Amino acid sequence: MSEFRKNPLKNEWVIFSEERSKRPKKEKVTECRFCEGMEIYTPPEIFSISSKNREPDTPGWIIRVVPNKFPVLSPGDNNFIKNEIFYENLDGYGIHEVVINSNRHVKFISQLEEAEIKLILDVFIERISEIKKNKKIKYISIFLNQGEKAGATIEHSHSQIIALPLLPELVKKESNFLKKYYRDKKTCYICDLINVEVKDKVRIIYKDDFFLITPLFYSGYFFEVDFIPVRHMGNFEDINSMEKEVLAKYIKKISNFFLEKFGGNMNMFIKTQPICKNNKDYYHWTLKILPRINNFGGFELSTQMNINTLFPEKTAGVIKEYLNRL
Ligand SMILES: [Zn+2]
Ligand SMILES: [Zn+2]
Repeated sequence: MSEFRKNPLKNEWVIFSEERSKRPKKEKVTECRFCEGMEIYTPPEIFSISSKNREPDTPGWIIRVVPNKFPVLSPGDNNFIKNEIFYENLDGYGIHEVVINSNRHVKFISQLEEAEIKLILDVFIERISEIKKNKKIKYISIFLNQGEKAGATIEHSHSQIIALPLLPELVKKESNFLKKYYRDKKTCYICDLINVEVKDKVRIIYKDDFFLITPLFYSGYFFEVDFIPVRHMGNFEDINSMEKEVLAKYIKKISNFFLEKFGGNMNMFIKTQPICKNNKDYYHWTLKILPRINNFGGFELSTQMNINTLFPEKTAGVIKEYLNRL
């Protein structure tokens, strides 16, 4: 059973999960358990998108969602074990699901069709809506690890969903900032940020009525790119069909740029509104994508201060040029 332990110095939780260490280091492609026809090698499916009527855990699916075989967290007890300054810990309650992005053995998300990526976004919406019915869940993290350097142990393209019974400190911090900004200015910080970036122009990779795609002024990681919906929206699941289309199209284009320029190691994740509060007015969801090239050194670990070796103004220029060449 896994466990949350609190670091009071940082006010941050650490998850201890020995189950994770049982994951195979690297699976041979010939026995990929995420491929169509291998359904019996995963835990029973939770959800799927299929082109025809089919029995669960049989071929004929397009996208399949299964519980993670080696979960970081799992449903069960959700209690404080101890609640004191030196020992504050909680049962490792949570949900950990795997979204198998395609029935084909595709390694990189950019190799999927735009329509397929759009379907993956639909699956995220479906799962968020379902998981939100669980009143113990406070935050849902949706992410994609691609390539070994990005944390993937299975090469078949997949995304993951981890639902937490508490708010990560980072999410709490960002959420508090947005709340304060809204209280002071009566507007959303991210909506205002879009206006500032549009006026400044120097960091815009792409902008239309639906999305601003930009590396942020203070982006912490090399070639980190944010997708910001132009329409004010707290919850990712409120995205409409046109917005999904643009999002899918540019996830494909930019992840393909990363693949061509840096190889396939990449992370993508959605930052959506925490569940526990009614904060629709000030929260504004975003999606982030970044190639994984460098590891973190002692300085970054000791200070949590990132060193980014390229200014975002240059990052924007390089990606924009690539998109113009397409
Ligand atoms: Zn496969
Ligand atoms: Zn907004």
